[in-house]
Amino acid sequence: MKKHNFSAGPCILPKDVMQKASEAVIELDGIGLSLIEISHRSKEFVAIMEKARSLALELLGLEGKGYSALYLQGGASLQFLMVAYNFLENKAGYINTGTWSSKAIKEAKLLGDVLEVASSKDKNFNYIPRGYVVPNDLDYLHLTSNNTIFGTQIKEFPDTKVPLICDMSSDIFSRQMDFSRFDLIYAGAQKNMGPAGTTLVVVKDEILGDVSRKIPSMLDYQVHLSKDSMFNTPAVFAVYVSMLTLQWLKDLGGIAAIEEINEKKASLIYSEIDLNPLFNGFAKKEDRSSMNATFTLTDESLKDTFDEMWKEAGINGLNGHRSVGGYRASMYNALPLDSVGVLVDVMSDLERRG
Ligand SMILES: *Cc1c(COP(=O)(O)O)cnc(C)c1O
Repeated sequence: MKKHNFSAGPCILPKDVMQKASEAVIELDGIGLSLIEISHRSKEFVAIMEKARSLALELLGLEGKGYSALYLQGGASLQFLMVAYNFLENKAGYINTGTWSSKAIKEAKLLGDVLEVASSKDKNFNYIPRGYVVPNDLDYLHLTSNNTIFGTQIKEFPDTKVPLICDMSSDIFSRQMDFSRFDLIYAGAQKNMGPAGTTLVVVKDEILGDVSRKIPSMLDYQVHLSKDSMFNTPAVFAVYVSMLTLQWLKDLGGIAAIEEINEKKASLIYSEIDLNPLFNGFAKKEDRSSMNATFTLTDESLKDTFDEMWKEAGINGLNGHRSVGGYRASMYNALPLDSVGVLVDVMSDLERRG
């Protein structure tokens, strides 16, 4: 039986996508060859790459608005460095909302001055800072839209005069936004749009090319753009499955449709966390993530019982990250509402048992 997969990443993907992807590994669309044995320069794969690039822009509402999409390697973690390589001339600003932001800051510091404009480190990142002032002389401001580990999410983005760069690894394509407010968006595919191995980068063309340092080819967005995301061999399988996942999302009705389902899932779990006296939410209420719900038991002696109960119910991947402890229910786009229902039933069963 398929488990209810709450894994934080790599994580659940739509069943139909996995079915189609597994077939393509044997034979791609009746061409007598496997997806993973054809040249990335073949017309079949070039079409897949172009479709994956255009679907990303279309779903984000950025088609024809001066943006380009790339599928790169090295994960979101390489973007921490690439962003600085391509845009950090003098000083960049970062909002530090968790482990991933901190890692992005560490890489940027290798190349220039970094101003930590705001941070929620004082409370183990259980909230999103507000009311900070963004200086106008920064090369860019970097944010993390959803903090996968701590379960917080930025609901309102600051108005800035400087370019806005955002790590959206764990909530891209999950909620509607005016994406044209951002100058560069990146996301490791393995949270909400595909398997591990590729990273989506969406960049506003006009912000490229201003930095004075020499950029190694593999780290230069302009090099990748000039080669239509084929400067070197792309992660063909990961790009293909990402393309299928974006097509699945488009067929479903796009971001607007999935956002509605995501909100239902989030309100189901959070109302249980709030009503059930055996659980405490970790994140501050107004900053709660609709993707990753973090919570703890009020009575640690119930841990073994609860763990046994959710495993028995066919739930996978509920353990919290070690820096928060407790539990984390990751509810990415492909997780059905029913799975959240199963988890909530287990939580209320625990209360009934006392
Ligand atoms: C998982 C994650 C990362 C790291 O992604 P990799 O692809 O493993 O480098 C970065 N940022 C956020 C917000 C994440 O959730």
